[in-house]
Amino acid sequence: MANDAQLFQDIIAHCKEYGFIFQSSELYDGLSAVYDYGQMGAPLKKNLRDAWWKSMTQMHDHIVGIDAAIFMHPTTWKASGHVDNFSDPMIDNKDSNKRYRVDHLLELYAETLPEAEGKILLDMMDQLLAANDFDGLKQLIESRQIKCSVSKTCNWTDVRQFNLMFSTQMGSVAGEADTIYLRPETAQGIFVNFLNVQKTGRMKIPFGIAQTGKAFRNEIVARQFIFRMREFEQMEMQFFVRPGTQMEWYSYWKEHRKKWLESIGIPADKLRYHDHVKLAHYADAAVDIEFEFPFGWKELEGIHSRTDFDLKQHQEYSKKKIQYFDNDLNEDGKPIGNYIPYVVETSIGLDRLFLTVISLSYQEEHWTKEDGSNDSRVVMKIPAAIAPVKLAILPLLKKDGLPEIARELMNECRPHFQCFYEEKDAIGKRYRRMDAIGTPFCVTIDHQTKEDQTVTIRYRDDMRQERTPMAQVRAKVLELLSKI
Ligand code: ATP
Repeated sequence: MANDAQLFQDIIAHCKEYGFIFQSSELYDGLSAVYDYGQMGAPLKKNLRDAWWKSMTQMHDHIVGIDAAIFMHPTTWKASGHVDNFSDPMIDNKDSNKRYRVDHLLELYAETLPEAEGKILLDMMDQLLAANDFDGLKQLIESRQIKCSVSKTCNWTDVRQFNLMFSTQMGSVAGEADTIYLRPETAQGIFVNFLNVQKTGRMKIPFGIAQTGKAFRNEIVARQFIFRMREFEQMEMQFFVRPGTQMEWYSYWKEHRKKWLESIGIPADKLRYHDHVKLAHYADAAVDIEFEFPFGWKELEGIHSRTDFDLKQHQEYSKKKIQYFDNDLNEDGKPIGNYIPYVVETSIGLDRLFLTVISLSYQEEHWTKEDGSNDSRVVMKIPAAIAPVKLAILPLLKKDGLPEIARELMNECRPHFQCFYEEKDAIGKRYRRMDAIGTPFCVTIDHQTKEDQTVTIRYRDDMRQERTPMAQVRAKVLELLSKI
């Protein structure tokens, strides 16, 4: 575990050094739990988003994509339950002013106890949380003499609920009526557009609506890099089904989503299901797909069978009928008629998927060369199809007409995939830089190219090199990319 902590720190440092991820507003000492994606991170993130979008919409007959606004009518969040329920019980230490999520504080403490004792404590905590018994939670913390990690004292405030939504004012007059929220999830933008999309798209149930976009949560314990952020991006899909068929679709999406994660290069043994035992009041089944991050198994994606809760709530709060007329015939030969559809949701954080991919890709390799000396490299083995740069084009020297030939190849390839041109430094150094950003293929143009129009193609993963006719480079790279 200690090694993994070091590995995680190395990955974070690498992300910064090679332009994948920077702390937001670093110039002003940063903004906590907010990050910027740099020149390598932004294209990698886009490739992941595009891969998800393609698999959900282009590759699926019955799913369409939308792009709803971040700002929504405030009643949306009343109806969804976020105004009243989207909160965590928190407690502050009066000496250090450090704020803790009550469940995190107790979980950390439980880890220090013998297993059976820790389990009893966590069961008690679950019961108190379910009953919203804040006095009981405080007593539990005090009776165990649980201390603040900073002040080392047991001087606690009362337990309070802390809403995770960010609010702001719309319009010029500040006041209660103008308070609007930065959406804490993208799903509600889909629910409120259910009828619009169903009617204008003449969609027939079962069908889905997909969306990617920013979400905001005022997470109190925001750490672990881009795993838990205050501003992040979600990729969500709500699949609307006939009531009574939701379990079939739930099983379908549970399996389908794990397969998709495997298809973009995540090994099956690094993924596992975690079924929710305690369900949210609106759900009749829920599962997390967890990934083994360097800091342990954690949720990457959630699949939730949400019943008709959301549409029903919006119907009630908007006072507008949100129903679907199903003209398929029932057993009596009559149309099934009107109902509020049930929903199966798939929800994945794009940033968490990014972290998954870079955690898997980052590798430090050491080997002994033929002359007995040691060598090493840091390589990002990002699956070629999602790598930010696909091909580096490198003239061996900055003279003798080699850059001109390289430029020709660059012009030929760049309309088809992302290329990178570099002529500075020794070739070995340039290869290492390409390894560090995860470029799967490099092509070197040398003096032999002028004689026989061949180039050296070098493969990132095994550093193999082979001579290839320059005229075949584009087709060869396209073929290699299509295999993944
Ligand atoms: P967690 O239990 O980790 O707080 P959650 O159960 O609240 O997550 P959901 O509300 O189901 O998460 O959101 C769906 C997905 O959005 C999660 O699986 C995760 O990938 C992503 N996500 C949620 N919160 C964050 C966050 N603060 N930062 C980055 N990604 C997030």
